[in-house]
Amino acid sequence: MTALLEVQDLRVTFGGTAAVRGASLAVAKGETHCLVGESGCGKSVTSLAIMGLLARGGRREASALRFAGLEIGGLNEREMSRLRGDRMAMIFQEPMTSLNPAYTVGSQMTEVLRRHRGATRAQAVDRAAELLGRVGITAPGLRLGQFPHQLSGGLRQRVMIAMALMCDPELLIADEPTTALDVTVQAQILRLLAGLQRDLGLGILLITHDLGVVARIADRVSVMYAGEVVESAPTAELFGNPRHPYTRGLLACVPVPGKVKRGDPLGSIPGVVPRIPPGFRGCAFRDRCEYAHAECSGPIPRQQAGPGHEVLCTLALAA
Ligand code: SF4
Repeated sequence: MTALLEVQDLRVTFGGTAAVRGASLAVAKGETHCLVGESGCGKSVTSLAIMGLLARGGRREASALRFAGLEIGGLNEREMSRLRGDRMAMIFQEPMTSLNPAYTVGSQMTEVLRRHRGATRAQAVDRAAELLGRVGITAPGLRLGQFPHQLSGGLRQRVMIAMALMCDPELLIADEPTTALDVTVQAQILRLLAGLQRDLGLGILLITHDLGVVARIADRVSVMYAGEVVESAPTAELFGNPRHPYTRGLLACVPVPGKVKRGDPLGSIPGVVPRIPPGFRGCAFRDRCEYAHAECSGPIPRQQAGPGHEVLCTLALAA
């Protein structure tokens, strides 16, 4: 599959902290690639760096940052803002990050199409109503006239997804889009994303810490730890044959129906994700890893564990 998004050796620093340390990943057209890991492991910074939305003080470098064959790493803010919301769109955990409380849903949605595509007001209103219907919002005419605070959290999330789709993007980056929602709404939003992807052929980069979500919708999974992708594989392969001790630890924290008995303790990984200074050497997981040994303080090899399955570890772990 040709990559729609290709990120090679992405590095992001904030002063004395290396937030992303040589992360590489690719998303193909029509593929859902999930980026997983604990809070603070660099997932969100990676997605913001791809979109050119790093907070002040963030410094980004990459050997390649390509979208649909176009190198976007060197684009200026004006050029990037033409792509954002048009061919590349992003949705966040908190819809109010994207929605302005002072404007109606309709004026915010139509603005996107009018700005990027020069649509007339009538065309933009038709498109907004069509998309609200598509994301399962009834009475779209009524909703277009409402302000974000008049909607429930689940409805706001749907509006944000509809708004992201206004210009038919090829790539959607979704950062924890269901974390703040209750379980029923969460399932509805995930079904919605999977359906939209099927119908529209979107490439999706989904950032999440929830392995249950990953198992349901990912084609490929990359596990991130302390700013590095430590393991990447097709979903069934990663769940069936995890190699990196951190991935194994994450999977041990997830209850499996039929395998975990009532009252069994859930797994947990002792310790927290460390803050890494630039120039750090060795494996950042070594203080938490039960297999750590002397070689783990030196250069860590990236090993092939199978077709499309890469692991960053000194051990050749048995399946
Ligand atoms: Fe553990 Fe060493 Fe592998 Fe890091 S490189 S995960 S410390 S065995």
